[in-house]
Amino acid sequence: MKFEYFKFPEKFAFLIDSPMPCSLCGERGVWFDTGGYAGVEDIDCICSGCLKSGKLIELEIEPNLNFDDGSEAAKTITYKTPSLPTWQDTTWPIIDGEFPVFECIASTQDFKNKEEFLDSFIENDQKKKDIEWIWDALPEKVLNNYQEGGDLSVYLFILNGKKYWVWDAN
Ligand SMILES: [Zn+2]
Repeated sequence: MKFEYFKFPEKFAFLIDSPMPCSLCGERGVWFDTGGYAGVEDIDCICSGCLKSGKLIELEIEPNLNFDDGSEAAKTITYKTPSLPTWQDTTWPIIDGEFPVFECIASTQDFKNKEEFLDSFIENDQKKKDIEWIWDALPEKVLNNYQEGGDLSVYLFILNGKKYWVWDAN
């Protein structure tokens, strides 16, 4: 289960609870739960092989939103990458035209200190001063999976060795 833009799918992707046949190829396993994937077609789950090979392109099912710039990377994130484990539709960040890799749902352990945390926030409508409080809401222990995340999550991305994050709340 390896994906170019999603580092730990076993821990942080939405998976079904028990083995089921992949809705596309029928192979049994604990596959990605596609219940929240956007699209007209409705399927229950998809195996990593079907997801990676782009079988969702034809079905027009989109696990992720991004600023589609027509690149191969954008296509990979939109159709061939497990969904970010967020509550709302969260757009995959883009940094100077490049897409970072989703690493984990962060804890304070993922940052050297509050300064590094604030520095790696991706400012859009919200500025760094607006999100300082999130540092105090971060879990102190490393998260082993998305279920440990609580009602507020910081999604850590890496691009060229540099950290970036966005957040979402239940
Ligand atoms: Zn399959």
